[in-house]
Amino acid sequence: MDELLNLIGGKRCAAMSGGWIDVHEPATGMVYARLADSDERDVQAAVEAATQACAVWQGLGREGRSQILLRLADLIERDLERFAQAESRDNGKPVRLARTVDIPRAVANFRFFATAAVHFASEAHLMDDVAVNYTDRQPIGVVGAISPWNLPLYLFTWKIAPALAAGNCVVAKPSEVTPLTAHLLADLVEEAGMPPGVLNIVQGLGPKVGAAITAHPDIPAISFTGGTRTGAEIARVAAPMFKKLSLELGGKNPVLVFADCDFEEMLTTTVRSSFRNQGQICLCGSRILVERSIYERFKQAFVERVKALHVDDPMDPKSDLGAVVSQQHMEKVLEHIRLAKEEGATVLCGGTRIVLGGRLAKGWFLAPTVLEGLGPGCRTNQEEIFGPVVTMQPFDDEAHALALANDSPYGLASVVWTSEVKRAHRVARALRTGIVWVNCWMVRDLRTPFGGMKQSGIGREGGVEALRFFTEAKNVCIRL
Ligand code: NAD
Repeated sequence: MDELLNLIGGKRCAAMSGGWIDVHEPATGMVYARLADSDERDVQAAVEAATQACAVWQGLGREGRSQILLRLADLIERDLERFAQAESRDNGKPVRLARTVDIPRAVANFRFFATAAVHFASEAHLMDDVAVNYTDRQPIGVVGAISPWNLPLYLFTWKIAPALAAGNCVVAKPSEVTPLTAHLLADLVEEAGMPPGVLNIVQGLGPKVGAAITAHPDIPAISFTGGTRTGAEIARVAAPMFKKLSLELGGKNPVLVFADCDFEEMLTTTVRSSFRNQGQICLCGSRILVERSIYERFKQAFVERVKALHVDDPMDPKSDLGAVVSQQHMEKVLEHIRLAKEEGATVLCGGTRIVLGGRLAKGWFLAPTVLEGLGPGCRTNQEEIFGPVVTMQPFDDEAHALALANDSPYGLASVVWTSEVKRAHRVARALRTGIVWVNCWMVRDLRTPFGGMKQSGIGREGGVEALRFFTEAKNVCIRL
């Protein structure tokens, strides 16, 4: 059985506790690897290694660091198929998706930040004849990165790439549910020429490893992506230590469909934005709001398309949906569907587990589910489900659509479908979400700010925002 290890000070090692955690393959429900069950002792060793490596890493300068990160991107690209197969096996996502989105975007994250850091400029403020101020943005030192299971390598690299490019050394923790691609990445670090201790990967459970990173006095900044409840716990622990925090949390994203939209394009994209990665993308639209005049037309066409989605072996290139990530998560989603029915929902399609044959017989597959008949205030429309489940609600006019869309504790992303430019601007301005897509979804430019409002988090990642987060701004004022 594969052993998934830590990377500390350039060495692959088991947890100091000697303990292991079972790692499951969602499509089969079977244990296929064991993971180092690390704790605060491993985090301590990682912090010491990272602290020691800071001088070497910073001494390489932006260009030197950039070259190493570009080499790492090339190595992931060289091994793309291996990474894609691993991601699909570990997470349950269709291998086609891992091959075309997850792994290429991990490569893009390294390429983008490797070059962005070289071009990152800082400000100067001239005070007539009095003085000149310049902002010196220096690396923080050792930073923490904690990532979730839904886009494992993609979100792991989304944090560590800017942190490293900005000159920090990193103690990173992938999700214990999907640790495989971070384990494979660790194998490439030395080949890329990265000095030992610059990137440390500590595998294990959130309440042990994640909590130890959060509480460690020598990690002054933490970038976290995950659930809102975990984010609140991290904020609670970090606040009295005045740590810098970037928190990318949950969502309950609205999709606003106006009658004047391009119906076919909207329909195709809305099927994707609802069920891609089994609905386990923080940016998936889970509340579909449709103008009443086209509600019935949309409902019929949408349900027909959803019923045609093919849920099957993630390794089969024809599968549209694979398995959800864990048994626990499958049960959580099924419990939400049960609750929705109790709240009065009509299940238009799906609503059940799918049992496949052969080696997939014990896999965690769910039918894509469409619900209607629920008001905005019910738990189904307020709580994040994070699975292949969407609700539909009709609206009467723009004001009504906005009221429904903004009636949420979350504020991560939204999608607007309309052909009217003025409406697009008006609605985009009024939506209380950090990201608004108009007539598209998941179109990503890595230079743009990424993050949410309200309970979807604090801070922004991406582009200059990430490089600013991972540096300390120091103003230097010189008398003229
Ligand atoms: P999670 O909060 O359970 O876990 C995320 C990470 O935090 C894991 O590595 C976990 O081990 C760690 N962790 C758990 N307890 C911890 C603790 N006490 N201290 C420190 N770390 C701890 O989230 P998840 O279930 O892995 O991911 C799903 C959630 O992530 C969803 O809510 C989803 O919306 C959110 N998400 C948000 C974004 C975004 O960009 N806003 C992107 C992807 C996922």
